[in-house]
Amino acid sequence: MEKEQKKNKKPAFVAVKGIYEIMPAEFPWWDRFLEVAEGVSKFYNFERIETGIVENADLFLRSAGGEGTDVHKEMFFIKSNKDKWVLRPEATASVARAYIEYGFSRLQQPVKLFYFGPMFRHENPQAGRYREFRQFGVEIIGGENDPVFDAQAISLASRILKEIGFKDVVVEVNSIGCRVCQPAIKKKIQKYYRTNIKKVCRDCQTRIDVNPFRVFDCKREECQEVKKAAPVFLDLVCSNCQKHLKDVLEYLEELSISYELNNNLVRGLDYYDRTVFEIFVEAGSKGEKKEENASKLAVGGGGRYDYLIEMIGGRPTAGVGFSFGVERIIEIMKKKEIKIPAQKNKYKSVFFVHVGEVAKKRSLKLVEELRKNGVGVIEGLSKDSFAKQLKMADKGGAEVAVILGQREVFEESVIIKNLKTGIQETVPVEKMAEEVKRHIK
Ligand SMILES: [Zn+2]
Ligand SMILES: [Zn+2]
Repeated sequence: MEKEQKKNKKPAFVAVKGIYEIMPAEFPWWDRFLEVAEGVSKFYNFERIETGIVENADLFLRSAGGEGTDVHKEMFFIKSNKDKWVLRPEATASVARAYIEYGFSRLQQPVKLFYFGPMFRHENPQAGRYREFRQFGVEIIGGENDPVFDAQAISLASRILKEIGFKDVVVEVNSIGCRVCQPAIKKKIQKYYRTNIKKVCRDCQTRIDVNPFRVFDCKREECQEVKKAAPVFLDLVCSNCQKHLKDVLEYLEELSISYELNNNLVRGLDYYDRTVFEIFVEAGSKGEKKEENASKLAVGGGGRYDYLIEMIGGRPTAGVGFSFGVERIIEIMKKKEIKIPAQKNKYKSVFFVHVGEVAKKRSLKLVEELRKNGVGVIEGLSKDSFAKQLKMADKGGAEVAVILGQREVFEESVIIKNLKTGIQETVPVEKMAEEVKRHIK
């Protein structure tokens, strides 16, 4: 993106730090992602939902942890309002809120929804993390907490990535237990960390008291050893949770989805239970030497949240879902040079050229007539020189030009010229649309 910084002079206004903006040159990638993500989701019978960007702060404080938690610290509070409003940090709690508010429990269960939109987190923006970023996600809410839905969510995520063109999609899976077994697991992990408390970082020392599972999110070198040898979730979860996970994995095998168990995998939000997962793609650029795991990047994650709806005032309702960080996916698509199929432009374009003032006046109407007839038109109505206009035609990739000169205006005709062969013919204005369509077929 060419920002106007050439003369070392900063513009008076620039985008707020950490706010990701999409410039036109990047949109083909975004369009491609959305086309696939939406298309596949609809094919799997998911319906789109769009909830508000502004939400009550308590919705997230109640569902993701109270004051003092990371979620609380990272939220954008909206000032000058006596209500406690925030810019949503994520959408699962919002979709769950809508499920209750709009009475979705009366519909056929489970309800299958997908969303796309901006989320906001007030953390310090580092490389690849933004304060405003976009997520695409799906939620399966209601009905039984059947493991088939966990597998379906994972399979949908994987299918979207594969359809986009990622070849190596791997899902890391763990189970963090349920209400019955989680308290004891937390205690075990606390006990283990406390006996190793001197070996871990300050943050982990606090986390182990406040929110023990979060120690697994620690990326610090000094904590890795303790982390690796931590008690194994799969040995500690109750038999129902074990069975649930086993079923999920069997479904994944059935669907030929590659997965790895990761005992250190937890999710950053408090409302998850049982299955949690993260989705990875091979992210080395084209031609780069493929080193094992060296370039495996997480592009999304999700899990089961059977207590969320209850936490925010609804009846006990099962749920599972995932979300993608779309900026990250776009970045990897570009790096890997993933092919975007040529824009399936329904309308093939022609280039409209006018010569002279009189023709220019007439042009606008003719251009509109072509468009009404479903013909895409590239025009250079403000560029008066014939040469300049032809340059545009070239850039726009049009194969056919419609030329209107003074003589044609007088004769009520236009010239249709094939820019590849150079062959041209003059046709009466009233036959223009019909003839043009014949040429661009
Ligand atoms: Zn359990
Ligand atoms: Zn640590």
